[in-house]
Amino acid sequence: MITFNKNISYRSLWILGSLLISLFSFSASADTVAKDKSTEGILRHCGTEHPSEEEAELQEQYFNSLRQKFVPDGGYSQQLIPATVNVYFHVITDSAGNGALTQAEINNQMNVLNSGFSATAFSFNLVSTTTTANNSWFNVTPGSGAESSMKSSLRVGGAADLNVYVANIGRGLLGWATFPSSYPSNPVNDGVVILTGSLPGGSASPYNEGDTLVHEVGHWLGLYHTFQGGCNNPGDFVSDTPAEASPAFGCPVGRDSCPGSAGVDPIFNFMDYTDDSCMFQFTAGQNTRASQQSSFYRGL
Ligand SMILES: [Zn+2]
Repeated sequence: MITFNKNISYRSLWILGSLLISLFSFSASADTVAKDKSTEGILRHCGTEHPSEEEAELQEQYFNSLRQKFVPDGGYSQQLIPATVNVYFHVITDSAGNGALTQAEINNQMNVLNSGFSATAFSFNLVSTTTTANNSWFNVTPGSGAESSMKSSLRVGGAADLNVYVANIGRGLLGWATFPSSYPSNPVNDGVVILTGSLPGGSASPYNEGDTLVHEVGHWLGLYHTFQGGCNNPGDFVSDTPAEASPAFGCPVGRDSCPGSAGVDPIFNFMDYTDDSCMFQFTAGQNTRASQQSSFYRGL
C-alpha cells in the first residue's frame, strides 16, 4: 500500500512538473531541488561492476549471436513467460548480534521486492533464511576475501536461484549484484548483497524503503543502470528508458541531462540512483531485456 500511495504521489508530481516545465521552462528549479536533497546525507552508491561502453557492446554482440544460434528467432517473438524466483536470504550479524533481522522485517522486504516487479514477468518466493555471526563478513565489500568466503559458505541453488546477503557492508555502498552473464564463469559469486539499513524502516534514509534490493535484483536479472553509456546510444540497451548523462540523486523532477535525446531522464526508474521514495518504475523494455537475459543465462 505504501508503494501504491507513493506511485500516485510521484505520478501526480510528474504530471505537475511536466506542466510547469512546458509552461515556464522551469527545469532550473528541479536541479536546485536535487542539489538540496543531495547534501542531506549519504548518496546512493551501488557497487555493481558495470562494463565499459566497448565491453558492453561486445557482450551484447556475444549474447545476440548465442541467442540466434540456439533460439530460432533469437527469442524476440517469444512471449514473456511468468517466472517465479526462489529466494534464499542470508543475514550476517557481528558477534554482538548487530544486524539481526526479524522475520517480519524480511517479509516486508520481500513484499517491496514483489511490489517493485509487479508490472514485470517476475515474482519472488522466499524459501529460507539463515543468520550467521561473522565479524569479517559483517563489513563485506565487493571483490574481497570476505565476499568469497561468505558466498562459498552460504550460497545455495543454481543459476535460477537468488541468494540475498544482508550485511553492514563497507565503502558506503548500498549494495551490489552480479549479472546473469557472469554466472557461467563464477557461479559461487552469483547473487545480491545489500546494506542492512536499506531494508524497509532501516537506518539508511532516504534509501530505507527497500528499493535497494529491487535495484540490485534488476542487475541480477540483466539490467544496467539507466545512465549506462551516458548520452550515447545504445546506453543501457533498453529503448524505452531515455538516455541519461549521469546518475540522478534526490528526486529531480524534469531533469534532462541529455537534451539532444528524446525524453527527460528516467528518474522514477528503479535502475537510477534517486531516493527510494522517487523510484517506482520498470519499463516494458526492461521487462523484455530482463526476461531475455535471465531466460538465456539463468533458465528462468
Ligand atoms: Zn546499481
